[in-house]
Amino acid sequence: MPEATADWSFYEKHGLTPIINVSGTMTALGASIVVPQAIEAMADILPRFVLMHELQAMASGVIAETTGAEAGFVTASASAGISLCVAAAITGMDPGRAELLPRHPGPKCEAVAQIGHLCNYGAPVGQAAELAGARLVPFGQSTHVLDHQLKAVLNENTACGLYVVSHHVVEYGQMPLPRFAEICHAAGVPVIVDAASEYDFEGFLRAGADLVIYSAHKFLGGPTAGIVAGRRDLVRAAYMQNLGIGRGMKVGKESILGTMAALKAWAARDHAGVRAREAATLKLWQERLSGIAGVKAEIVPDPTGNPLDRLKISVDREVAGASAMAIGDALGRGKPAIIVRDHEAELGYIQLDPCNLAAGQAEIVAERICDVFRRAAEGSLEEPDPDVVRNRAALNYLNWLA
Ligand SMILES: *Cc1c(COP(=O)(O)O)cnc(C)c1O
Repeated sequence: MPEATADWSFYEKHGLTPIINVSGTMTALGASIVVPQAIEAMADILPRFVLMHELQAMASGVIAETTGAEAGFVTASASAGISLCVAAAITGMDPGRAELLPRHPGPKCEAVAQIGHLCNYGAPVGQAAELAGARLVPFGQSTHVLDHQLKAVLNENTACGLYVVSHHVVEYGQMPLPRFAEICHAAGVPVIVDAASEYDFEGFLRAGADLVIYSAHKFLGGPTAGIVAGRRDLVRAAYMQNLGIGRGMKVGKESILGTMAALKAWAARDHAGVRAREAATLKLWQERLSGIAGVKAEIVPDPTGNPLDRLKISVDREVAGASAMAIGDALGRGKPAIIVRDHEAELGYIQLDPCNLAAGQAEIVAERICDVFRRAAEGSLEEPDPDVVRNRAALNYLNWLA
């Protein structure tokens, strides 16, 4: 990630809560730090008119170069990309049928997915398919997926197989992508892979995906957008959905050019340098936490194999004086608010993700986290209500403007 500077005056000027993001690329925090190349591209195109189809054809070229796919396009988000790809599998190149979605998809509208993949990334992934009119057909059990279970749900009404790569999916007992693709393809069914947070631009297509969806605003540091890459006929059918359900998922000229710039910047980025910087940050945090009673800090790899490590901070509540959840909660209440990766806090740990830090912020995080553990040891940290924490994603909406 770029060396953005921590400019707190921005927050003062706008009356916004100052944030240090050590949770990863989160929609609720504004996704990621957009790379300068994308910012420049967006500023360049915003005051001008362009032929949007021409611009998207150009984006297709850049996406093809990055992924090895035949073609691609940019849409509003990865979530939109899922809906458009599923719609493509349902309608093919028929604009009349595209206009009838989602109410009248026709009989061939089933989207099969192993049940452990039906996760929530801020919204249910299955709903993104249903938005296109698909009938979702889950198969297998949460941690037990066998070939015959997939074969049993494939039939003449199957439009596509949906495969999700994410830290949100069940992490064992799932069918690997090559096998999923092999069985789907034997039945003539195209495979759509949601790889929104994945760094691997080529592997899923090589493993048998017909369409892959990436997010432009996560690791890429692009504008808020989604990237679709894959088979030319399916990419064309997905892009055509802009005549129908895709309208509400419209992407602007700035996001198309910004995404192209982010893809080019990604290819030119000093990835080894970024990793070295992140490793130094993790080491700093780990050293500061060593010796605190009841705390274990380990550097752990990304669960889906992205080239990214995080600091896993396990907390023994009895010894440290507070739970991992309370530590994360207290960090989020400070100023600036330090937002940690806490989706597994109920298991007794939180994580620090170093990939979205501005210059100087690693040190602030180190100081604040030690301070919070000091307060925990004194017994002055409040334990949050775990049910409130668990329901927070919904409560933030329910309480908004209330
Ligand atoms: C983030 C994410 C999405 C949604 O991406 P957006 O671009 O924010 O719509 C979809 N699927 C997975 C697995 C994700 O991680």
